[in-house]
Amino acid sequence: MTDHAALRVDADRLWRSLNETARFGAIPDTARGMCRLTLGEADIAVRRWLIAACEAIGMTIVIDQLGTIIARRDGSDPALAPIAMGSHLDTQPTGGRFDGILGVLAGLEVVRTLHDAGIVTRHPLAVIDWTNEEGARFAPAMVASGVFAGEFSLDYALAQRDRDGVTLGEALALAGFAGDAPVGAQALAAHFELHIEQGPVLEAEALDIGVVSGVQGIRWFDVVVRGQTCHAGTTPMALRRDALHSAARLALAVDQIGRSDPGRSLATIGLFQAYPGSRNTAPGEVRLTVDLRHPEVAGLDRMEAALGESASALASECGTPITVTPIWSSPPVCFDPGVIAAITRATERLGHSYRTMLSGAGHDSVYTARVAPTGMIFVPCEAGISHNIAENITPADAERGANVLLQAVLDYDRSADSVSKVA
Ligand SMILES: [Zn+2]
Repeated sequence: MTDHAALRVDADRLWRSLNETARFGAIPDTARGMCRLTLGEADIAVRRWLIAACEAIGMTIVIDQLGTIIARRDGSDPALAPIAMGSHLDTQPTGGRFDGILGVLAGLEVVRTLHDAGIVTRHPLAVIDWTNEEGARFAPAMVASGVFAGEFSLDYALAQRDRDGVTLGEALALAGFAGDAPVGAQALAAHFELHIEQGPVLEAEALDIGVVSGVQGIRWFDVVVRGQTCHAGTTPMALRRDALHSAARLALAVDQIGRSDPGRSLATIGLFQAYPGSRNTAPGEVRLTVDLRHPEVAGLDRMEAALGESASALASECGTPITVTPIWSSPPVCFDPGVIAAITRATERLGHSYRTMLSGAGHDSVYTARVAPTGMIFVPCEAGISHNIAENITPADAERGANVLLQAVLDYDRSADSVSKVA
């Protein structure tokens, strides 16, 4: 009987897969830059590579109506739904070779490792390449996992157009990836996603692994502060209704809201514009955006209420009406305790340093979490940089992440029973 706890991925083979597939969409004259837009030539090439690699180890390929590739390996219990290891192979137009790609190719490496060891899991396994995660060619991002989870309709997704007016449906047909499997019909026993952190925390704290407990919620607001435009030289300060003065105080209030729950609350003004924009005129109007983030709905509610109170207090104090308009929100996601526990146990058994953390960015796992027990594993990336041709990780990061993925999936698989082995 193979000692499952001692099983490790082939780190060299994983690194070779990452390097070999990086030729599909590599940006010339850059060290690691990638441009692999959804269903473009490079994406089609890497999809074919993935399918061939999965078929070579006996996996069967299902392609759904949105082109998502679900490569499946049978388990010993045909009654069970597959444990999936999913992420995405598309990139930003000036992206890197690890965002998303690591999760899919590490999934392949896990199955290759089990194949070599002759281990059959109880659950079937699936390696998934979700179509159009980045949203760089077709908006919105994570559209295929979104349809999978019921956030968007299939027709809505298929009708989305790229900049040239080509619909996702047309691009799928043209690429030969308009599959016939209904999106979302395949139930998943769990969804594990290994991903680069895309932030600086793990590197700064010199930690190997991030065990992701969920994704913080986001609320966006447009704010307009209205005062009165007036002459900079002739209007006494006491008689002014300066929109910028009022907005500046609101900006300080937003900063306080961001500091109200340290380590959890975040508040950002990303855009701040004064009108009419003249050196010797006090602004009569300021437009700004507010981005509030928190891991809990109650926290977001508190922050939104504080924003509203600050705005109305400043409006009456400064004589500047302030409108705060909510324009978009994304609820917080809590990943599955059982999946998080399996990832944590695997990380500890492997002896890797780790912390529990939230994801600041969206991922396919945000949507799969609605329909399947889901969890994510983060590995550090250099300087926290991603969506950038400078994005980088070390071979050791890839190895640690893939081994955690392997051991977490095995742990989750045997949580009810022991794993059978091919004779
Ligand atoms: Zn990604």
